[in-house]
Amino acid sequence: MTNVVLLGPPGAGKGTIAARVAAELDLLHLSTGDVLRDEVARGTELGQLAQGFMERGELVPDHVMLAMVRERVNGREGVLLDGFPRTLAQAEGLARFLPVHAVVYLAVRKDEVVRRLGSRRVCPSCGAVYNLVTQPPEVPGRCDRCGGGLIQRADDAPDVVARRYEVYERDSRPLVEHYARQGKLITVDGARPPDVVASDVIEALRP
Ligand code: ADP
Ligand code: ZN
Repeated sequence: MTNVVLLGPPGAGKGTIAARVAAELDLLHLSTGDVLRDEVARGTELGQLAQGFMERGELVPDHVMLAMVRERVNGREGVLLDGFPRTLAQAEGLARFLPVHAVVYLAVRKDEVVRRLGSRRVCPSCGAVYNLVTQPPEVPGRCDRCGGGLIQRADDAPDVVARRYEVYERDSRPLVEHYARQGKLITVDGARPPDVVASDVIEALRP
């Protein structure tokens, strides 16, 4: 079974693409951002620890993330990791319990991700994601799927987006080079409609 890592800046579309690719290739989709948001919503010990880092656009400490991912992977193969690893230390830790076969890098420029994140809205009830410009809900402010009220993620506020991008450049960008050196990197242009990006990724990964 193939284990895949999805890399890219915040706002590159990792969550959307990962969901489609995982369904098509029958992989287990593990989004560390989604897991953390769920822990925060449930007020767990991990959630309380992570909340402050997330609100500031900082990374949750490596040892916490490694323990969390290791527990969720739990010896399985055929995993699609979305949002992990985000630092070299996480990549090194991951290699000790899960072999990474392919790494997809969703390349999107900074001005585009800033624009996307500013217009992103989410449904806290069912997790659906919208974009006021490219994928608006049918009724303004209401979720098409469940009717819930849409909100802006706290970390999509402009000052936090700027911080997340800085952290990405400093801590996560080096992973692109790291995996390229290992011959695992597949670069895909993420600045296109989700359908097109997803089918390119699926094509590149299909055995
Ligand atoms: P995005 O990729 O759009 O920045 P995510 O939903 O993947 O958003 O992550 C949201 C936040 O969760 C991050 O800004 C960070 O605080 C935390 N987080 C998620 N994954 C990791 C990780 N692998 N290491 C550290 N922090 C993480
Ligand atoms: Zn909803």
